[in-house]
Amino acid sequence: QKDSSQQTRITREKLVNGLLPTSGFDEESCLSRFESYLYRKTSPHKPSPYLISKLRNYEKLHQRCGPHTRFYNRTIIKIIKSGTKGAATNCKYIVWTPANGLGNRMMSMVATFLYAVLTERVLLVQFNTDMVGLFCEPFPSSSWILPENFPFINNKRYKETYESLLHKDKENNSQLIAPSVLHLNLQHTHNSPERFFHCDHSQDLLQKVAVLIFMSDQYFVSSLFIISSFNQELSKMFPKKDTIFHYLGRYLFHPSNEVWGTINRFYQAYLAKADERVGLQIRLFNPDLTPYETIMGQILNCTLQHKILPELDTRNGAVASPRKTQTLKSVLVASLHPEYGENLKAMYLSKPTVTGEIVGVYQPSHEEKQKSFDNTHNIKALTEMYLLSFCDVLVTSSASTFGYVAQSLGALKPWILHKALDANIPSPACVRDFSMDPCYHHPPTHDCRGNSAHDLPYTSKCADYSFGVKLS
Ligand code: GDP
Repeated sequence: QKDSSQQTRITREKLVNGLLPTSGFDEESCLSRFESYLYRKTSPHKPSPYLISKLRNYEKLHQRCGPHTRFYNRTIIKIIKSGTKGAATNCKYIVWTPANGLGNRMMSMVATFLYAVLTERVLLVQFNTDMVGLFCEPFPSSSWILPENFPFINNKRYKETYESLLHKDKENNSQLIAPSVLHLNLQHTHNSPERFFHCDHSQDLLQKVAVLIFMSDQYFVSSLFIISSFNQELSKMFPKKDTIFHYLGRYLFHPSNEVWGTINRFYQAYLAKADERVGLQIRLFNPDLTPYETIMGQILNCTLQHKILPELDTRNGAVASPRKTQTLKSVLVASLHPEYGENLKAMYLSKPTVTGEIVGVYQPSHEEKQKSFDNTHNIKALTEMYLLSFCDVLVTSSASTFGYVAQSLGALKPWILHKALDANIPSPACVRDFSMDPCYHHPPTHDCRGNSAHDLPYTSKCADYSFGVKLS
C-alpha cells in the first residue's frame, strides 16, 4: 500500500512535473507516456509554470483546429475558394515534412513545434510509411497526423515558395499579398543561401500565410531568440535555456506500444539490474577513412581515461577477487556496425577488471547502413535512442543528431568522441559536453541587414561541430 505522499510523487513524476496533460488520453493506448518515468532518475529540472500554460493553451488550439474539426474543414474550404492568395482564416497551420534520418527529423520536429506554439499555428506532421507506428499522439483528444486528403501538398496549384515571396518583397511590391499556402524549406545544403528566417520582417510576411508546408533538418531553436516578438516568450517559457529539447522532446515523443514493448523488454533483460548503465553511441560518417582499430582505440582511450569503464586486470592468472565489492556495469552499444560491441564484450569476458566490476555489453542491432525510408529500421533507431536516454553516463559521437536525441531526453551531458579524420586516434579522444541541448549545426550566417558574422544570443560554439552553436 503506497502512502499518499508517495502516490503524489509518482503521479507528479508520471506527468513530468506538469508537462504532460492529465486528461484526454487512454493510458492503455500509449503505455510509454506514463511508464517512461519508471526508467528515469528523478529529473533535476522542473518546467516553468509559463511553459505549462503555453502547452495547455496549445492543446486547446489543436483541439479546436485539428484535423476534421469544424474549423479545420472551414479553413480548407476557405482557402480553396479564395484561390492561392490571401485567405484570412481562423486557424493557421504548419505542416512538418521529413528530411534526413530520424535524429534530424526529431530535431526539426521539436523546433517546428516550438515555432508553432510561438506563432499559434497548428502542427500537423506528414509521416510517410517509414514513420508510421513510431510515436503516439502527443496532443489530447486530437491528432497531429496530416490527413491523407490534405489538398495543399503535392498540388501544383499551391507551389509558391518562401524564396519567391522574399524575392517579390524585395522588389518593393507594396501590393504584395501573402499566399494562402507557402512552401518553406530550411534544410541545410552545401550552398544554402541566407534565408533571413530569423528576422522580424520575414516573420511579419509569414504571419499572414494560412498554411506553411515546412521542411528542415536543423535544430533551429536558437535562431528564434533573435526574433524580438519571440525572445521574451521564450525566456519566460525556458528560464534555463538548455532544457528546451529536454522538455519538448519528453512532451512530444512517446514511443508507440509496439516500440515501447521492445524498449521495455530490452531494458528488463539487460539494463535493469545494473548498478550503472553506460550508453555508447558509435556513429561513423566516413567509415572508410577511419580504420576499426582507430575507433576502438579512441573508445578505450576515452572510457578508460575518464573511468567510464574499468581497466582489465592483465596480470597472469588474475581472477576476480571476492573481497572487492562486485558491482555490475551494463554497457549499451548503439551502432550501425557490429564490431565495436562484439569487441568490447569479448574484452570484458576475457579478463577480470581491476576494480572487480563485472561489465556486460549489449548491442540491440547493427543495421550496417542508414535506411531512413524503412519503417523497421526507424523503429530500431528510436528504440536505441530511447534506451540510450535511460543510461547514467553517455558517450556519443560528434555531430550526430541520433546522439543529441538521447542526451536531451535523458538530461545528460555526454562525453563526445572527437571526429577521427584518418587512421590517427584523436587526442584528446573525447570531451565532456557543456550543455544537454542539441547543437544547431548551421545557424544563420548573416544579420537581418545582410552583414555577415552574426552571433546568436545565449549560445556558445558547439564542442563537436565547428560551424554550430548551442544553447547553454
Ligand atoms: P545522424 O545522421 O547521426 O545525425 O542521425 P540521424 O538519426 O539523423 O540519421 C542516422 C540514421 O542512421 C538513424 O536515424 C538510423 O536510421 C541510422 N543509425 C545510425 N546510427 C544508428 C545506430 O546506432 N542504431 C540504429 N539502429 N540505427 C542507426
